[in-house]
Amino acid sequence: MKNLTILGSTGSIGVSTLEVVAAHPDKFRVVALTAGSNLELLKQQIETFKPDLVSVLCADKAKELSRSLGGKKPQIMHGVEGLIAAATAADTTMVVAAIVGAAGLVPTAAAIMAGKDVALANKETLVTAGHLIMKMVREKNVRLYPVDSEHCAVFQSMAGHRAEDIARVILTASGGPFLHWGKEKLSSATVADALNHPNWSMGKKITVDSASMMNKGLEVIEARWLFDIPVERIAVNIHPQSIVHSMVEYIDGSVMAQLGVPDMKGPIAYALTYPGRVASGVKPLDLTALSGLTFLKPDTDRFPALKLAYGAVQAGESMPAVMNAANEIAVESFLAGKIGFMAISETIAKVMDLHTPHDLHSIEEVLEADRWGRRTAKEVLGCTN
Ligand code: NAD
Ligand code: MG
Repeated sequence: MKNLTILGSTGSIGVSTLEVVAAHPDKFRVVALTAGSNLELLKQQIETFKPDLVSVLCADKAKELSRSLGGKKPQIMHGVEGLIAAATAADTTMVVAAIVGAAGLVPTAAAIMAGKDVALANKETLVTAGHLIMKMVREKNVRLYPVDSEHCAVFQSMAGHRAEDIARVILTASGGPFLHWGKEKLSSATVADALNHPNWSMGKKITVDSASMMNKGLEVIEARWLFDIPVERIAVNIHPQSIVHSMVEYIDGSVMAQLGVPDMKGPIAYALTYPGRVASGVKPLDLTALSGLTFLKPDTDRFPALKLAYGAVQAGESMPAVMNAANEIAVESFLAGKIGFMAISETIAKVMDLHTPHDLHSIEEVLEADRWGRRTAKEVLGCTN
């Protein structure tokens, strides 16, 4: 029996995680759930999974939830304190980190410090604080399992091999909805266009990141820390069918890949049950039904975000945190209809130009770089709040 805390249980990854959990009641118990403000869904999850502790975004939401629950209630908390309590709950053995954005960093770090294994969907944790997080993982002797499908594929493609024999990691990217759009058309892309992902159904922020290719940029940085491999040896191939989830090339020229139908329940189940496997609810792959598997080089002229991410790692420790913060603000503005699609990467580039990179020695210093990035992105965008 594995005892779970799910941070971000009402999101796309959170919901898929609970589907895997529901299919294997003999293997998992839910100790704690956290959500933002979707109380309707959280209430259903509480009734089904009966956690001991839940946490929501703010005090008002906590009161509203408490009023709406009948019978035996879980302990209800809110804010960062609630997230940390859920991440470090005494009964929990594994934390599924599925909050979106840099907001996931503090509770994920708290889980590691409390000695919990982590199934990591929240890539922003490694983007902003990779070197500190991996040091904590080593010191606390916990396991960090990737939930991101590409990293799960790399993890599986490395099993049974020696790290010193790896030549390159090749991350695949679908190319998103704008794969074949010209630059001019891209500047007038709407929110609906960007949210129309061809292969994956995900939360809004990561869907826009997929359209701009910043998602792949974040994943390059995530892979750099997770697998301790320099970014120069991490390549990106566009693979529009999203069947090959990523690959590892070895020094003898062999390439190991992991394939499957694009469904996050696969990587989630693997992270929850490693080294074993369980039925995940993912449909079997019928290769004969596919019209082909193709691979292309990414176009960093139309999708500059990918280049920005490589540059951020090379620039120094604080730059990826600043880049990530600027991206979060720019994506929020795009989703609110305030800026155009190409302005996302333009804003990030301007903020990065304004930043003098420096080393980061603590999570507090990462949060300071994150705040600087947000503030500067808002200034660049001309927002006052
Ligand atoms: P989502 O927007 O669907 O869900 C996010 C969850 O986090 C929700 O439960 C929300 O209430 C909660 N949340 C948001 N802001 C919060 C805050 N400030 N404080 C506390 N809780 C907050 O996002 P998602 O698509 O499930 O993605 C979650 C993470 O997983 C992201 O880091 C994303 O990059 C990563 N990821 C997602 C997918 C996918 O298929 N959705 C795939 C790979 C990686
Ligand atoms: Mg991914």
